[in-house]
Amino acid sequence: MGYLKQIDIENFKSWRGKHIIGPFMKFSCIIGTNGSGKSNVMDALSFAIGERAASLRVKHLRDLIHGANVGRPISDTARVAVRYCDDQERETVFCRIITGQFYSSAFKNKITVDFSFSVFRIIRLLFNIMTKVQNCMVFQGTVELIALKDPKERTKMLECISQSREYAAEYNAKKAALLKA
Ligand code: ATP
Ligand code: MG
Repeated sequence: MGYLKQIDIENFKSWRGKHIIGPFMKFSCIIGTNGSGKSNVMDALSFAIGERAASLRVKHLRDLIHGANVGRPISDTARVAVRYCDDQERETVFCRIITGQFYSSAFKNKITVDFSFSVFRIIRLLFNIMTKVQNCMVFQGTVELIALKDPKERTKMLECISQSREYAAEYNAKKAALLKA
């Protein structure tokens, strides 16, 4: 399975210049006051593995450059590199750089990769599986959203996650048969 070891950041959102976030342990917590940049860590991670601007709380990729939120971007580029370690402690680096208003380049271990046909696609797929099915990355507001759901909707969601929904028809048929008998 592996784990996220470190995030190297340059001029991305609230980070001015070069910064290192981590190294992380297999279990790490990020704490901080409101507005200190906790969600920006999630944004950095999402950006590096290929998320689009719309999912990163901005209109254009350029808005992610430090200072762009107040109309004064510090640079033309910003960079996020994610260091991932597998179970044998072998490190893989996924890096994404903003190169224009709508454009970015991606690298895996310093080799350029294309977002459409690449390992990034697989990573994104895994990421989607992680977020949507296993709920590994739970973004801000999600817990509240689940708590405020209509009880039937919440049950449906839990049934989907546990895959017990697949057995619903069989269960209902058996229950109906028992009631008839
Ligand atoms: P909360 O606890 O309220 O959820 P948080 O720790 O999650 O807060 P973030 O949303 O990660 O905070 O960070 C918000 C901060 O990031 C704000 O202070 C905002 O000014 C800053 N910020 C966002 N985009 C940029 C940018 N492009 N350049 C500089 N700072 C930015
Ligand atoms: Mg937040």
